[in-house]
Amino acid sequence: PPLRVAIMGLGSYGTRVADAMRDCKRARLVGVVSGTPAKITNWQSKYNIPEKNCYSYETFDTIKDNPDIDVVYVTTPNGLHHDNVIRAAKAGKHVICEKPMALNAKEGQEMVDACKKANVKLLVGYRMHFEPKTLEIIRMRKDGELGKILFFQGLSGFTIGDPTQWRLNKALAGGGSLMDIGIYSINGARYMIGEEPVWVTAEETKTNPQKFKPGVDETIQFQLGFPSGAVASCLSTYSMNNLDRFFLNAEKGFAELQPATGYGPIKGRTSKGELTQPHITHQTVQMDEMAGIILDGKQPIVPVDGEEGVRDLKIIDAIYQACSTGKKIALK
Ligand code: NAD
Repeated sequence: PPLRVAIMGLGSYGTRVADAMRDCKRARLVGVVSGTPAKITNWQSKYNIPEKNCYSYETFDTIKDNPDIDVVYVTTPNGLHHDNVIRAAKAGKHVICEKPMALNAKEGQEMVDACKKANVKLLVGYRMHFEPKTLEIIRMRKDGELGKILFFQGLSGFTIGDPTQWRLNKALAGGGSLMDIGIYSINGARYMIGEEPVWVTAEETKTNPQKFKPGVDETIQFQLGFPSGAVASCLSTYSMNNLDRFFLNAEKGFAELQPATGYGPIKGRTSKGELTQPHITHQTVQMDEMAGIILDGKQPIVPVDGEEGVRDLKIIDAIYQACSTGKKIALK
């Protein structure tokens, strides 16, 4: 039987996931959670969703009595992930939560603990962890084909539009570019280098304080130091386009991806040549793989569990601390 999924938050990314799931072999969209009745009606006809699997935020807790839904996929704004995930866990449902998993590591840990207590799985929507070109570089690194890893560069950014959107609202976004797009460089540095950073330095610059209010970062440059001595140098920004690039340098070769994390196709090459793995819609692969994780206990090559989400949040906390103090922050 397939993994039966309800999507909470019927916005642009929720729609992308729903469309991608049409091609899934093991995951099926069967339910929705929304505060907007018109969206529910629209999704019902578009995705053939039965009335009994439709919830508002008022009725959501009764999902615990619905045996036809396995997992709730939370695609609401960042600031709502914590409460929404814990609510779903308390209703006895597995949870997939979009990145960033929460606003800070403390919130993230509470979500991990709540899911553990409820005996449900918590996964984070890290779609790149299933992307074939990304995984090929990780394989090369693990098999020693690149030799000792020395350096990673991650560039993550785009020029953000509408100043009234939730992504520029501190309460709903938790920050600015770092929460939304810079997290790809943080996460990428970790899976490309294959280690956990032990220190962070960072500098924030702001050219437009009208648009980017206090607590909403426009541009941050940050560096991560790893136990082997490898370092990462990254840029996160809401004010430049064409920034989606990973570069990994090692003793015996290099690997680069550009675009590295966009919806695809991902393009890349290594010192051994072009990467030719086929492009499959990321969210389709992700949902089929997550079905395997939830239903069969399959272990992904790169983790996508709540603990993985918390690791990124600890680094995000440290980057913000480094920006505000100007100090080098040690990570445990
Ligand atoms: P969006 O604004 O298009 O959708 C958010 C949805 O949440 C909307 O339908 C909105 O109505 C709903 N919502 C529920 N309660 C709300 C409230 N109190 N205030 C505002 N909206 C509320 O945003 P999006 O681009 O779909 O992003 C949603 C989440 O998905 C974010 O956490 C984002 O970081 C993540 N995301 C992930 C990827 C990825 O590639 N993994 C890509 C885009 C977005």
